[in-house]
Amino acid sequence: MGEFKKCKYCQTDIPKKAKVCPNCRRTLKSHGCLIALLSFFVFVCIGMAVISGAFGQNKFMQKAISGTSDESEYITMEEYNLIDTGMSYDEVKEIVGSDGEVSSQVESNGIKIVIITWYGNGLAGSNANVTFTNNEVTAKAQVGLQ
Ligand SMILES: [Zn+2]
Repeated sequence: MGEFKKCKYCQTDIPKKAKVCPNCRRTLKSHGCLIALLSFFVFVCIGMAVISGAFGQNKFMQKAISGTSDESEYITMEEYNLIDTGMSYDEVKEIVGSDGEVSSQVESNGIKIVIITWYGNGLAGSNANVTFTNNEVTAKAQVGLQ
């Protein structure tokens, strides 16, 4: 039997030469290596946080504003360009891939004007408004689509 020492983590008697505690599996000694590894890990974590923060903020903001989490619900510039006057709401809905939100609805003398807003994929606040008169596109406008 060799010499024994106490594991500083779990206080179990373990062989003095053990580099890993057989009881709690923690690495003993080689602190310098562990600290280097740990600081590298922290550094990577900070780096990742900064990168994802810079790139993720826009989508996060967009989510917070529009309340949608599914990216396919956003309208893109490409989809916007496909919308043409005379199209029905169903056709536009198919192009964008989502229902959009009714932002205005007026009906008088048998003419029904509905403005539907789709949130854009661009910067926070980007969107497209499509005006339907009697279920036909009569006007469209967009802000900040990509
Ligand atoms: Zn231990």
